[in-house]
Amino acid sequence: MENKKNASEDHQWLYSPSLESTSHIEIKDKYELFINNEWIAPTSNKYFDTINPADEKVLSKIAWANAQDVDKAVKAARKAYDEVWSKISAGDRSKYIFRLARMMQEKARELAVIETLDAGKPIRESRDIDVPLACNHFFYYAGWADKLDYAFPNQKTESLGVVGQIIPWNFPLMMAAWKIAPALAAGNTVVLKPAETTSLTALKLAEIIKEAGIPPGVINIITGHGDTGEALVKHPDINKIAFTGSTQVGKAIQKALVGTGKRSTLELGGKSANIIFDDAPIDQAVEGIVNGIFFNQGHVCCAGSRLYVQENIAEKLVEKLKHRMKSLILGNPLDKNTDIGAINSREQLQTIEKYIQIGIQEGSEIFQCEGALPANGFYCKPTIFTNVSQSSVLSQEEIFGPVLTIQTFRTIDEVIQKANNSPYGLAAGVWTDKGSKIFNLTSKLKAGVVWANTYNKFDPASPFGGYKESGFGREGGMHGLGAYLKIIK
Ligand code: NAD
Repeated sequence: MENKKNASEDHQWLYSPSLESTSHIEIKDKYELFINNEWIAPTSNKYFDTINPADEKVLSKIAWANAQDVDKAVKAARKAYDEVWSKISAGDRSKYIFRLARMMQEKARELAVIETLDAGKPIRESRDIDVPLACNHFFYYAGWADKLDYAFPNQKTESLGVVGQIIPWNFPLMMAAWKIAPALAAGNTVVLKPAETTSLTALKLAEIIKEAGIPPGVINIITGHGDTGEALVKHPDINKIAFTGSTQVGKAIQKALVGTGKRSTLELGGKSANIIFDDAPIDQAVEGIVNGIFFNQGHVCCAGSRLYVQENIAEKLVEKLKHRMKSLILGNPLDKNTDIGAINSREQLQTIEKYIQIGIQEGSEIFQCEGALPANGFYCKPTIFTNVSQSSVLSQEEIFGPVLTIQTFRTIDEVIQKANNSPYGLAAGVWTDKGSKIFNLTSKLKAGVVWANTYNKFDPASPFGGYKESGFGREGGMHGLGAYLKIIK
């Protein structure tokens, strides 16, 4: 640690840079489509750049799949389903998934660094959260593949067939694992489309799939923009669409699927409430708030973006929160000291900045730490707004950035009403010393996940999903397995 004080904050110490090495990673100049365990050029011969949001430099060129390419991928998945994956024993399926998990683990460092470069998230998060959780998801579902009779006792299960999967950019590798692992364990084959700004770890996973000897066509990875996803949704030979992304696109997908007989699960946006009672351990709660909204630059569907604080502790808590925010380190995501990395894209940064302006215009009070942002790249300071009204745009709409609204409450009934007053219902947090309050709230909050005295904790064994405009269907646990099966009573 450098014995040097930051000019603006007398309590803060600057750390010497501790950059993660990039010498052990390999990123190709250009990536093709991964179909049938082969790298295939896109029919249109179109490619797009993927950039490092921390410095705006191009990392690689990515193939842009059109409807013809989607058709090739679906045909490969159908052939693999009919001739291989639905024929081999469940034990063999399990071994393949297990092998994939092991090989991902062996390449964990490379995956973590590539994720940080492509997505802008701090290396500490890619290394300690994204990649281990992605591996654990494969391990967990490898265990279920040959135990479906135990997961659903006295019921018969059948796989669905070919599944189309579309994922967002906030947890690229983890979202790929959440989609692929249960689908394979249940006996389906897949065509996965990563988000256009973060294709690299999915393509690295494709290399591992080939190396692991997963039979050709079982997992196909096609890259592209929204039109590629749309072609996948519309393909007639898909049995299910599993989508994670914005509510707006989720609604369009649901409309496109009406009457087709295709199954669907939609994991959509959120505007989750984090509720702090006056008997909560206040310092832990402050850490929980910071983790809830500033983790991954607020690019978390279940981010605790609406804070409700009991009135009698509000002043003290906000003061402590501001103090904690001043010690957050914003900067190069590859630096192991960094708490806040880069916003994933210029478009997303502009969206966040638009909402910050709306908050100011609405008359809310803004607080951001002092200090300059890096000259290049897309960065946003952690931001809090106080004096926010319940009906304001800021407290109703998903921002998907490091922006927190703070409101106060007096009674439990009031905070339940306020927390549920949202079109979304993905997650919530409750901080209190009293177990009875926790049980009371968890049954009354309309949120798929409710954390008590913690926030943003994930485990492959526990189901995750939303209410209302946050979507339907669950991922993780046995629920996530059931979403990829026909269950015949
Ligand atoms: P997005 O909806 O813009 O894109 C998601 C994916 O859908 C991308 O791969 C994109 O290329 C594709 N897509 C875009 N238009 C499409 C169309 N018309 N048809 C088919 N596919 C299409 O979302 P995003 O900006 O990448 O991600 C952010 C959103 O994802 C936020 O709203 C966030 O809350 C949500 N999210 C939800 C969860 C959850 O589990 N509920 C998890 C992560 C992210």
